[in-house]
Amino acid sequence: MPLLSLKSISKRFGATAAVDNVSVAVQRGEFFGLLGPSGCGKTTTLRIIAGLETPDTGSVEFDGREITNLPPEHRGFGMVFQNYALFPHLNLFENVAFGLRARRGSTSDQITTSDRVNQALDLVQLSGFEKRRVDQLSGGQQQRVAIARAIAIEPSLLLFDEPLSNLDVALREETRSELRALVRRLNLTAVYVTHDQEEAFALCDRIAVMSAGRVLQVGAPRELYEQPANVTIAKFLGRNNLIRAMRLTSSNDAIAQFKTLEGGHPLIVEATHDQLMHLPVNKPCILAIRPEAISILPTEAAGENQIAARVEQIEFSGATTTVKLNANGLKLEALVLRTDLAVDHDCVLILPRNRIKLLREN
Ligand code: ATP
Repeated sequence: MPLLSLKSISKRFGATAAVDNVSVAVQRGEFFGLLGPSGCGKTTTLRIIAGLETPDTGSVEFDGREITNLPPEHRGFGMVFQNYALFPHLNLFENVAFGLRARRGSTSDQITTSDRVNQALDLVQLSGFEKRRVDQLSGGQQQRVAIARAIAIEPSLLLFDEPLSNLDVALREETRSELRALVRRLNLTAVYVTHDQEEAFALCDRIAVMSAGRVLQVGAPRELYEQPANVTIAKFLGRNNLIRAMRLTSSNDAIAQFKTLEGGHPLIVEATHDQLMHLPVNKPCILAIRPEAISILPTEAAGENQIAARVEQIEFSGATTTVKLNANGLKLEALVLRTDLAVDHDCVLILPRNRIKLLREN
């Protein structure tokens, strides 16, 4: 049974459908991402989970119990926001203790509070800083205080809303690794909102990709990257070559012949029986292949799916090089570790049939 279930949740703000019929199930111990561009409804979904927003329709269940209308303070969830939401005039200890005291409604078990605060500060490597005022800390340290405050209450669920986006790149990557290790070590369940694909891939066990209030696909990072369900996801998640093509053969085998609209190149593609059943012959469709899936040869060799191309541009970026190619009007990008090619060189591209994906339009 999932720990958290959103069942057909919808929420409107005036004419805007912020969340539109979203159903998601988060398993116990999972680090679950909500990923999508700005305005797609991630924060509203998270606020509904937190109890800060009530859905117009649908229900929220936690640990087998319906909590749709349960006030946030009775949910026992920890939250970490982008802007830290700390009290600048209080020291670290008081900031972390605040959540614990508010929850207990008294300071009677002072010793336990103190232990818990120290333990939480230790976990985020801020022991010894208890007396420091929050405004004397760096952004990264402030965010660690916010994380300590959230975990001090021993939350049954941790909710993160873009918690690292105010940090610079190096600090963001470092804090990201620490956060992942911490959540795993404490065996917590987390829901993490971000618009940053790389961050979601690095942190999350599974991710729901959202667009315009809807969940388009849920999957593990690798699955989303390798098997995007549609064109929107393929464009949003990393670089992809999108190729307009049409299907030539009519058999419903798992392998089909296509012809690219630009360049007129024949391509053999592996697709599921179900996908092919819904794609009539001669109907235009979109094929996708990742830049790193394309191999470049100096001359033709034996084998299928080879396309003659000319190098138009080479972009060296350290560990990898992007080669921009033109295959008789079909523009493609290949990502290679190194290349001896130069601009205007002729070459042959190999597009492996199992790396070409047939995409739904939406
Ligand atoms: P961002 O990454 O920019 O925070 P998001 O994906 O988290 O975006 P939401 O903040 O959930 O998206 O917003 C979804 C849509 O609902 C947006 O169009 C937003 O303008 C609208 N919206 C959200 N909250 C409110 C509100 N309180 N009143 C009116 N409209 C709102």
